[in-house]
Amino acid sequence: MRLVLLGPPGAGKGTQSARLMEKYHVPQLSTGDMLRAAADAATEAGLTAKAIMEKGGLVPDETVVCIVADRIAAPDAKTGFILDGFPRTVRQAEELDKMLAARSAGLDVVIELRVDDAALLARVAKRAKDTSAHGGVVRSDDNPEAVKVRLAAYHAQTAPVANFYAQRGLLKTVDGMAAVDAVTKEIEQLLDG
Ligand code: AMP
Repeated sequence: MRLVLLGPPGAGKGTQSARLMEKYHVPQLSTGDMLRAAADAATEAGLTAKAIMEKGGLVPDETVVCIVADRIAAPDAKTGFILDGFPRTVRQAEELDKMLAARSAGLDVVIELRVDDAALLARVAKRAKDTSAHGGVVRSDDNPEAVKVRLAAYHAQTAPVANFYAQRGLLKTVDGMAAVDAVTKEIEQLLDG
């Protein structure tokens, strides 16, 4: 199964990916996680990405495309994957098409989680509060200023990606405002049906 999960910050992509990964036995490929790991490892690309991520902007396409191309080539992604947070621009979607065409392995489906902006701001604030209550490290981009920039980037640059896939007949939309279990169920129905 080769799946893309699209959705703004706080839509539940990470939560749903983790559940789907268990059920369908394919890895979750989160570009946010990969970039945070590169930033922690203080690689050149990681440090450049870190400064951009902290402000809520998008890391340049070339950087992210290289990271994904490497990850997709790993043995565990051979039978499939769940892409979480990629593609975020039409250029990235085009590059993904090329990577997959080279392997004759197209996407099965693209699922967009739709959530209101007001709910997203509240969700991300709750995620930060819960993380710190559990003694975890709050993401440096989970603050109101960065979330607003991330949402604006989503509307300006990632919303067109949904159209890109709609035109190819691959896009399915799920109501991300529903309870977590209900969202999982709806996604599973789309995948199994
Ligand atoms: P996420 O964990 O998916 O919310 O991503 C956190 C941050 O990583 C984003 O706000 C961007 O700065 C960066 N990022 C993650 N994926 C991408 C991508 N596909 N393209 C550009 N920047 C990305």
